[in-house]
Amino acid sequence: MSKQKFLVPMSSPDLDQSDQEAVLETLKTNYLSIGPKIKAFESQICKFTGAKHAIGVNSGTSGLHLGIRALNISQGDYVITTPFSFVSSTNVILFEKAIPIFVDVDPKTGNLNTEIAAQAVKDIKSNDPAAKQKWLPRKNGKGTGTLRSILAVDVFGQPADYDELNKTADQYALAVIEDSCEALGAAYKEKPAGLLGDMGVFAFYPNKQITTGEGGMIVTNDDKLAEMVRALRNQGRAPGDTWLQHTHLGYNYRLDEMSAALGVSQMNRVGQLLENRRNVANWYSTKLEDIDGVEMPYIAPSTTKMSWFVYVIRLDASIDRDQAAAELIEAGIPVRPYFLPIHLQPYIAEQFGCKIGDFPNTEDIGNRSLALPFSGLMTKTQVDLVCEILTDCLQRL
Ligand SMILES: *Cc1c(COP(=O)(O)O)cnc(C)c1O
Repeated sequence: MSKQKFLVPMSSPDLDQSDQEAVLETLKTNYLSIGPKIKAFESQICKFTGAKHAIGVNSGTSGLHLGIRALNISQGDYVITTPFSFVSSTNVILFEKAIPIFVDVDPKTGNLNTEIAAQAVKDIKSNDPAAKQKWLPRKNGKGTGTLRSILAVDVFGQPADYDELNKTADQYALAVIEDSCEALGAAYKEKPAGLLGDMGVFAFYPNKQITTGEGGMIVTNDDKLAEMVRALRNQGRAPGDTWLQHTHLGYNYRLDEMSAALGVSQMNRVGQLLENRRNVANWYSTKLEDIDGVEMPYIAPSTTKMSWFVYVIRLDASIDRDQAAAELIEAGIPVRPYFLPIHLQPYIAEQFGCKIGDFPNTEDIGNRSLALPFSGLMTKTQVDLVCEILTDCLQRL
């Protein structure tokens, strides 16, 4: 079925006239890059999260990559991370030829399982080769690398359990990177997402809570890390370097001024944007509560503020999820399995020898999850329509 025939879109950015004007105004100036808009956008993010530093970049992936670089994570180093995520949280580790050590997730939240992570850290840091080996990949990872970091993901807008992760990390002097690309505006025990580890990253692709088209933002309270990621995003220019002086091997990961202007405009109404998404999520939850075979999103007590990125249900194991998805799409409702486990993506499975069965919780969620159409622009009528067609479809299956 072609996209045009969908009854509701899978997602849509919430753009208004002030957003359009903000971008247009920028085009009437001489500053298309490294101008006032990125500075304004960064200070808004600082204010919103309470971060000491915010560094705008051209994608969430770029932000995560700079985190890995700034922490000096390099060839052969180990990074503990989750196989239940969007691939870029693992890709940035691979960009530097470091080795992801996957740890299974909590079956309820889908976030990194902190007990398993703690055990993995303890074993990898121990002097017992057998204990260590069982966490390392079957292929291409049995080196003598050093465990350097935990890269956790705030899946679907819900923060991971950072009190536990930080406790483990502190014990072994590991850095904690928070992939908060899905969680702008969320809070964990009243603390803002993005600042729950040593550094965090937000993303602004069109389906995220706010958008800049493409874009991302690193947040941290660490002066040294901030200085390094600022240099690395700007062709390796350290403070004091001229345009043609490059202290470090860097990148062009800058966020342009048109995108930053859109970011500023979106942040001016971020509260409303988040509230609209919350309302849509609440409509879904009310409607789906009593439907047989549907498991609702689980919100942990530590999540004092959920920031709705997507609305993902899980179908009962007895229901053929792929068939349900196909029928919904046929009926005009776009849905997506969310996520396909990272360890089973062909290039990862091939490189590290991962197999089905390696991370049962991740695979179970991956097999049963279904992201429903979601955005802050959805109307109650649209939510009702999706739920009716879903109910209908599940009754027939
Ligand atoms: C969106 C997202 C990213 C980054 O995406 P970009 O498209 O590079 O901005 C990273 N991690 C997760 C979990 C995401 O959802």
